[in-house]
Amino acid sequence: MTALILTGAGLNALLGLALLMLWRQAPQHLYVRYWGWSWILLSGALALGLGLLPDQDGSMFHKLMVGTSAALAMGSMALRTGGARIYRRLSWKRQVWLPIFLLLMGSLMGLAELDHRYAVLAASIYLAVGAWQCAWWLGRGGNSGERFVAMCFVTAGFAHILTPVFDPLGRSAVPHIAGLFVQTTLSLGLMFLSVARAHKEARQQAERFSQLAEHSLQGLLVVQNHKLVYGNPAAKSIYGVTDADLAVSRNLLTRLVPPDQQEAIRERNRLVMSDPKARIEWEGGRMTMDGRQIYVRGLSSHIQWDGQPAELMVMIDDSSRQIAVDALLRQAMHDELTDLPNRNFAVERLRQLTRTGSAPFALISADLDRFQLVNENLGHEVGDALLRAVAKRLSLELPVEATLARLGEDQFLVLLEGVAEPQAVQSQVELLLDLLHSPFAVEGAELYVHMSVGVALFPRDGLDGANLLRAADAAMHRAKARAGTAFVFFEPSMKGDSRARLEAEQALGRAIAEQQFVLEYQPKFLAHSRELCGFEALVRWQRPDWGRVSPVDFVPAAERTGQINALGGLILDMAMRQLREWQDLHGRLLSLAVNVSPLQFEDGAFASGLLGELKARGLPATCLEIEITETAAIAHLDQVMPQLRLLRAAGVLCALDDFGTGQSSLTMLRNLPISAMKLDRSMIAPLPEAGASAVVKVTCALGQALSLDIVAEGVETEEQAAAAEQLGCTQLQGYLLGRPLSAEQAGALLADWAAQTEVQAQAQARADSMPTQPPSV
Ligand code: C2E
Ligand code: CA
Ligand code: CA
Repeated sequence: MTALILTGAGLNALLGLALLMLWRQAPQHLYVRYWGWSWILLSGALALGLGLLPDQDGSMFHKLMVGTSAALAMGSMALRTGGARIYRRLSWKRQVWLPIFLLLMGSLMGLAELDHRYAVLAASIYLAVGAWQCAWWLGRGGNSGERFVAMCFVTAGFAHILTPVFDPLGRSAVPHIAGLFVQTTLSLGLMFLSVARAHKEARQQAERFSQLAEHSLQGLLVVQNHKLVYGNPAAKSIYGVTDADLAVSRNLLTRLVPPDQQEAIRERNRLVMSDPKARIEWEGGRMTMDGRQIYVRGLSSHIQWDGQPAELMVMIDDSSRQIAVDALLRQAMHDELTDLPNRNFAVERLRQLTRTGSAPFALISADLDRFQLVNENLGHEVGDALLRAVAKRLSLELPVEATLARLGEDQFLVLLEGVAEPQAVQSQVELLLDLLHSPFAVEGAELYVHMSVGVALFPRDGLDGANLLRAADAAMHRAKARAGTAFVFFEPSMKGDSRARLEAEQALGRAIAEQQFVLEYQPKFLAHSRELCGFEALVRWQRPDWGRVSPVDFVPAAERTGQINALGGLILDMAMRQLREWQDLHGRLLSLAVNVSPLQFEDGAFASGLLGELKARGLPATCLEIEITETAAIAHLDQVMPQLRLLRAAGVLCALDDFGTGQSSLTMLRNLPISAMKLDRSMIAPLPEAGASAVVKVTCALGQALSLDIVAEGVETEEQAAAAEQLGCTQLQGYLLGRPLSAEQAGALLADWAAQTEVQAQAQARADSMPTQPPSV
């Protein structure tokens, strides 16, 4: 009997160990561990159960043995039921099972004190109930394997309950042998369940991941030993490869990757394979199997593939984004009109060429002369076509080493790389200028073009792009200023030229504070009678140590730097003071027009302030005229319109300046509260040419329809004056009839006019007062 019990104990211990080893393979399956320990405890219980054998005395030692055996048997049962619950993903809480366990143990101890037979009977019942409970959990709704194990538990329950039937102290060999069979079968069944579940889960996981990979929009490629061992559908569709291509993957690298990138890819593979933590982002152009160019962006990392290191590449086809980026880049670096590289490109190229230690080169800034005339007289379409024609001829005829770019408007840039000797550069420049000798056929006309060229040399004239461009520009401006000179090399003395503008902006503030400005007055005359009818005030800056500066040069600067309000205020003040003086001197007044920048209207109180000033100086509102340019008025309509209305309502005259240079709509013109329009010099200059005459005639008709005065500006010849008059202009202004005059000269003109009108008025008065005599017979 002892041998039988010990054999059973040993076998159960082995089965327990086997379960525990199984658990070590898949530690996430906790129930296997529970069952393993359950069998080990069972073997302990069996071994200590020897104490119940009849040849043992009832000593304290044996009581201890029997008690421990009972505790181990109960523990085994607890672990078994716990394992079954965990297998079924039911809760297994210590707060629940520990009290039950202690209760059962306590009852066993108590019964054993009365009679060992009672304890054995109770233990058999407890164990049977525990086994059947497990059978219930595992068998209900289970698969065939689980139902088989449930049957084993049911049988084990019967083996337990029958033990006291054979012998009240459980010492019969029959239930022991039966129990041994049942327990062994049961534990093998549990092992089967564990393995089956582990397999199922592994399969599920593998399926899950393979589905993720198969359906991923990102391409996945695995490279091992320089062979493509896996490619998901997305990766295959990116490269257009088939499974058949993958099978012969050795030469795929050379087919899919441009030659210049293959070495980089091999290097990356080496890095990733040698470092398990490596994560390398990459991007670049690739080829597809059918020869398309694509752009791929990806991440390479180290993985284990079938237990061996491999490179995993996760990637997307980024071609469309890259195309957009390239297009933007091209747009940013490219001049639409001439198809040449633009200023951005030139600046970038200069940055590359001027890196320290770079080779010398020459920079040519070439600007068309009097291009504005073409634009003004022949229209912007012709101007654009001319620029295109010039660009085309230059890019075709210049040597290939020369880079041609258009910097803006009518300015071109030529970079002569590898040419640095002034003599060599000069012959290149002469070659460039020779290209302009024959005329350009543009829109049916033959146009001759001249260029002013400035040359700067790297590194002599500047160490970076900005300085070189400035130097070439300064030289170009110098060439423009010197009549008959087509090209000029930069000299250090020209450095000041380009800075002059900046300095002017800075000096302007002081000039306003110190009132370094004077007004000149250009007379305006009535058409036909050529009688003086008003003046236009034109500002000049008398810059100390410099001379007179034209408003064209500093008014835009004042607008740029926000000083136009102060300057404009000063000009209006000077104009009104002059009016007051003339009023006091001659007792009569003609209107004085003052040019106003639209920015001045941004001060919402501009108009009302102006009216207040007029009143304070006792000047009639009708003696002041505001000139505002057409384009500016439209651009700032919201601020300009209400204030113009206010001024007009008070009697101040308002003229739309430079008419014909912008694109006013008729409605706009009708809504603007103006009293005159001034036809721009560019409309008057071509008169009496037929086309220009037609335009002026239509414009005059328009002005007449709106009851506006129509002033012809920039009248320089008698032909122009006559034509303007004949076409309907009501006033003439220009060098022909009067240049801008100093205050004294203008005052003298006004005095003559006052005297004359006085004489006329007196003559008229006399004529009126003379009695009308009847005609003599
Ligand atoms: P604008 O208002 O169109 O003034 C007419 C310009 O044409 C003046 O140049 C005048 O001297 C010039 N001019 C007059 N008759 C002839 C002519 O027959 N032939 C030619 N070729 N030119 C003629 P200026 O004085 O240099 O003024 C240029 C521009 O500066 C003005 O153009 C005006 O827009 C602006 N400006 C002048 N004074 C002021 C001012 O006080 N305030 C503001 N905001 N701008 C002013
Ligand atoms: Ca004007
Ligand atoms: Ca004008």
